[in-house]
Amino acid sequence: MMHDHDTIVAPATAAGGALAVIRLSGTDALAVCDRIFKGRTPLAEAKGYTVHYGRIMEGERTIDDVLASVFRAPHSYTGENSVEISCHGSSYIVSEILRLTQAAGARMAEPGEFTVRAYLAGKLDLAQAEAVADLIASSSQAAHALASNQMRGGYSASLETLREKLLYLASLLELELDFSEEDVEFADRQALRETLEQIGRSIDGLRRSFALGNAIKEGFAVAIAGAPNAGKSTLLNRLLNDDRALVSDIAGTTRDVIEEQTNIDGVVFRFLDTAGIRATDDRLEEMGIRRTLKSIRRAQLIIHLVSADTIGPDGSIPQPGFTLNPEQKLLTVVNKIDTRPTLALPDGVIGISAREGTGIDTLYHALRECVDTQALLDGDPVVSHSRHLQALSQASEALQQALSAFDSLPTDLLAEEIRAVTSALGSITGRGTITSDEILINIFSKFCIGK
Ligand code: GDP
Repeated sequence: MMHDHDTIVAPATAAGGALAVIRLSGTDALAVCDRIFKGRTPLAEAKGYTVHYGRIMEGERTIDDVLASVFRAPHSYTGENSVEISCHGSSYIVSEILRLTQAAGARMAEPGEFTVRAYLAGKLDLAQAEAVADLIASSSQAAHALASNQMRGGYSASLETLREKLLYLASLLELELDFSEEDVEFADRQALRETLEQIGRSIDGLRRSFALGNAIKEGFAVAIAGAPNAGKSTLLNRLLNDDRALVSDIAGTTRDVIEEQTNIDGVVFRFLDTAGIRATDDRLEEMGIRRTLKSIRRAQLIIHLVSADTIGPDGSIPQPGFTLNPEQKLLTVVNKIDTRPTLALPDGVIGISAREGTGIDTLYHALRECVDTQALLDGDPVVSHSRHLQALSQASEALQQALSAFDSLPTDLLAEEIRAVTSALGSITGRGTITSDEILINIFSKFCIGK
């Protein structure tokens, strides 16, 4: 990866707006800009955090009237000298300015290169850098809160606390090794064990938070299951608030991953295999059932939809034809209550008429209640990257190793296990460990140009 401070340039805004921003960063960014920017004074003489009106010129030809914002190292996103040129949002103007800045000595940035530089300058850690990408991609209030907590470093701070505790313990143990002839114990074994157990609980808490973090980021996965004619596709249309035609042609239903989503009170719900739900054609029924079972396995929440006319006179609800794993939630919903208005339903069962819209608000509410976002609102650390989950699992494994053989493990091996936990935790933020170029490229290649 590129570790020098040559001047990079990239558009920072998407095409199509009234204005566009072009970002430059590098030791010579101001001088490079001055070769094409004509204002009252050269940018190279300007103070940081100032904005300058001027023109982008190619010889005598004016390309555009622009504003140039100047940032001076180290007080910029990248920690380097930087300029942000705000110009008119024409793709022609943007490409001309990019061409001219390159002729003046800048080069086009790689995807994520601005953020790589910010990371290398110690402006943010890896978890925060990943959050920048999440923040830009966030499409719901909850996803925004998640990314913004992480970007502000809340999660990094709690990892750092754990890591520091462990480092302290490891260093006490290593001190013992230095004095091994004298048979001293700096680290009280009982206290050490308790601390490790406590750290283990914190790590497990973080691992558990992934279910929420992932659901918030990717959308909460919902499957609608029920017998044919229960009203699944009517309900889906109702929940998605539209009246799209049922998919009945083969071409449409063979599209494998048709997923539709709706935002309920700041959380995105993703309806799995809506093609399967909408496949009403007989020829497709078997295929549909197989796919429904598959989506039931993937779902975090299953709506078991039962038609009111299949309910016994004693109010007994037919059993679902599937089993759940312990992490999955089930909502039992009785549809077509318009046909049996006097039907008494057991507690916790929601009665609706998908066709008429009765009970849909209650169902929305129940769906939203299935996702407990309190942790997010409280600003608790919530894990949302599988890379982090993996590192936490590694940490947890090393910790279990240390604890399970705690009494028999010689001091040096114990210290080694603790170091392993430390480095697994450190890999999340990239602090205290050396992050390989491979990992950096993997993280930053997901960024687009200009971030
Ligand atoms: P699916 O096979 O589970 O997808 O069921 P559909 O959504 O295709 O619905 C089956 C039939 O039940 C259709 O004729 C719908 O119009 C009807 N239906 C769906 N919801 C309701 C409802 O709330 N009340 C009544 N009376 N009929 C409904």
